[in-house]
This record gives sequence, C-alpha cells and structure tokens, in this order.
Amino acid sequence: MNLLVVGGGGREHTIIKKLKQNPAVETIYALPGNGGIAADATCVDIKATDIEGIVAFTRNTKIDYAVVAPDDPLVLGCVDALEAEGIPCFGPRANAAIIEGSKVFSKDLMKKYGIPTAAYEVFSDPKKALEYLETSPIPTVIKADGLALGKGVTVAMTRWEARAAVREIMEDKKFGKSGDKIVIEEYLEGPEVSVLAFTDGTTVKPMVSSMDHKRAEDGDNGPNTGGMGTVAPNPFYTEGIAEECMQTIFLPTIRAMKKEGREFRGCLYFGLMLTKKGPKVIEYNCRFGDPETQVVLPLLESDLLTVMQAVTNGTLADCEVKFRDAYACCVVLASMGYPVHYDKGYEITIPDAVKEHVYVAGAALKDGKLVNSGGRVLGVTAVADSLPEAVKEAYAMADTISFGNKYCRRDIGQRALSAINQ
Ligand code: ATP
Repeated sequence: MNLLVVGGGGREHTIIKKLKQNPAVETIYALPGNGGIAADATCVDIKATDIEGIVAFTRNTKIDYAVVAPDDPLVLGCVDALEAEGIPCFGPRANAAIIEGSKVFSKDLMKKYGIPTAAYEVFSDPKKALEYLETSPIPTVIKADGLALGKGVTVAMTRWEARAAVREIMEDKKFGKSGDKIVIEEYLEGPEVSVLAFTDGTTVKPMVSSMDHKRAEDGDNGPNTGGMGTVAPNPFYTEGIAEECMQTIFLPTIRAMKKEGREFRGCLYFGLMLTKKGPKVIEYNCRFGDPETQVVLPLLESDLLTVMQAVTNGTLADCEVKFRDAYACCVVLASMGYPVHYDKGYEITIPDAVKEHVYVAGAALKDGKLVNSGGRVLGVTAVADSLPEAVKEAYAMADTISFGNKYCRRDIGQRALSAINQ
C-alpha cells in the first residue's frame, strides 16, 4: 500500500512511524515532511495548504490511503478534494473541520446542544466588544474566531489587557480575516486535560488522555508556545471523569455534528477544563494535537492504519482500539528564543540509540546534514511503567541530542507528578 501523509511536523513524524509498523505499508509520501521525516518517508516539497498541488501529485502517484493531519488543509477542504479523486482519507471534510475553523461555530454548537462550556458573547463590531468589556467580569478570555496558529487566544487578567486584545484582533487585524469576529468568554479555572478521540461520526473511541505544557519556561512561565512537552495519561482525568465526559461531551458533540449535517470522521481533539462545576470544553481541534500525539500514539497497541481505515469506513464500533497500560513523556527541544526570535541552521546530532524515540518537527536537510529550521526542533518520547521513569528517561535521551542554542523546559511532567503524589 502507498500512503500519503499531509503535513510536516512532529505530529506527522509520529503518525508516520506508527503507520510504518503495518507490514502492508510500502511507501509513505509526506507532503511536505521535513528533514527528519525524510528518514522514514519520501518527502515531496508540496505545502500542506497547496490543495491543488496535493491533488496533482496524487494524479501522478498511486496513493491508496491519505491522512491529512494539520488544521489548515482540513479547513481548506483537502479531504474533500482527495475524496473527489477517489482516495480514501483519514480526517474530517471541510464542513466538519469548521468545529476548529470557527470558534463562533463551535460555541454556538455547544450552546444549541447543551454541551458544557464557558459562557460567551460573540462580536463583529469592535466598538460593541469594547463597550461590553467596560462592565463584564474580569479575568476574561478573548478569542479570534478563525485559525490563528494557536495564538488567537488571550487570557486577560485586567480590563486593559482585554481591550488591547480586542483592538489587536479586530482593529489591527493581527490575524487577518480570522479576527472579523471574536468570542469573549467566561474565565474558567481547573486542571486542563487533552483527549484525542477516534470517531467515524457515530462511534467515539477516546485515546489515552494527556497533559500539555504550553508556556515557554519552567513553572509555566513565559509566553505561550505550540507546546513544550506532554505526558500521558493525565492523572487528573479519572475513570469517573472520563465516563462523565463521554456522556456529557464526547457523544453529544458527535451527535450534534451529525444532526447539523456535518458528520465528523477523523480525530477529534477535546481541550477540557475540569472545573468545580464539572468538565467543560475549552476548545475543539479537528485533528491530532501536537505534541499530544507524540505521547498518545506511542502508547497505542492497536495497529494505527487499521483503526484509521475503520474510521474512514464507518466501522469503528467493530475495531479494537487498545492502549498500553504505561506512561509516556515527551520533551520538546526548541531553539533558544522560541517563540519570539531564534537562529536557524545549527547541525543536529542524534545518537542512533535514541533515533527511534525522536519525532522531528523544525529541521531540514542541508548538504546531507540535519539542521534546525524552526522553533520547536524535535520531541523525544519515553514510555515506561511509571511516570517518574518516563520523565527521567525522556530527559536522559534529550540530553544526548545536541545542536546550537538547544533549549528545553526542565520540568515537563512535574505538574502531573505532584498530582499523583497528592
Ligand atoms: P491551540 O494552540 O491549542 O490551538 P487555541 O489558540 O485554539 O490553542 P485555546 O486552546 O482555545 O486556544 O486556548 C488556549 C489556552 O487558553 C487554553 O489552553 C487555556 O489554558 C486558556 N483558555 C482558553 N479558554 C479559557 C477559558 N475560558 N478560561 C480560562 N482559560 C482559558
């Protein structure tokens, strides 16, 4: 079988390494892939958002199955375009990817179907939004409606910050058309949990839960990033909470999407906050999270391609989705200065002994050498029988990798360890 994976980050590298475990897989094409992915797949220099280019590629190359991993091509209709070519795909069509593509859509969906989430107001006029902020409760959360590379959310602790966020999004158009509308949301408190779930539009099979570390610096300080590390499972997510989420959030969401004529097939990501009033949805993503995937898929015991095909065929109910009873920790190695400013082009050295556990994100091949080309360079994942062991092993492996201006947080997993020890 020839597979196509659209995307080129650590998440895609993890998906590719897992897909390769199926003996029926012959060639995997990664569009565009990256310098590290090139060791496991055939990288083709076509951007993930170049839908026409992707389709043209499949006309010249036999592809039996495609996985579209990032948000932008999903929202742009990459799955629709590939399906029109007769290629079966993993990932939602554009009319379902809107669950991530528009926060106004997802908030209205939750309100309509009684799915627990923060109270909110929608604005398309900056004046009205600013007027509302004069008397609304503080802290508050300001969210651009559309995709904003994970940077469209401001948790405002003061009225001043809230006003500044509204102006940046709606008047300065920091995120372009993504900021034509905004959501102003109630501030919630509680531990955060990420749950990725396979769904074929009717059946939902949640994967093992995980915990992200979004801030750049130790102690959850510094600016927000795409994610500096993850652990799985998330100790706050007990069996009781999982069952509650299934009944009040996961199944209602899948049913709501179907009822709206927007059947969701693929991986649906639930960003949850466990508040005193119960679990609430912070956000939906229409795809695997990054770097959550780097801890979740290494724990998957079932064959990934088989599960993905069951999702596509609508037979997920009959497909076993089994996870190892173990712990995983992923430490992201970034370029010093990320997410603001960083230098590129430093050679990366990864010892052979740890290559299997490395998922490359921002790296390119230059004269046959792997060099850093992005802020988040790679992730290293360890799987062990306990969380302390997984954390220790992930750092031990991370410390054997070298490149100029290498930076990582030293406290990935500490929040989870404290929760376990309490
Ligand atoms: P991502 O990078 O995951 O795509 P995003 O831009 O879609 O992020 P959200 O996940 O909606 O943004 O929000 C980012 C972070 O802001 C959340 O992880 C959470 O910590 C915080 N946040 C969002 N909404 C709220 C809320 N209502 N109350 C408190 N904190 C919130």
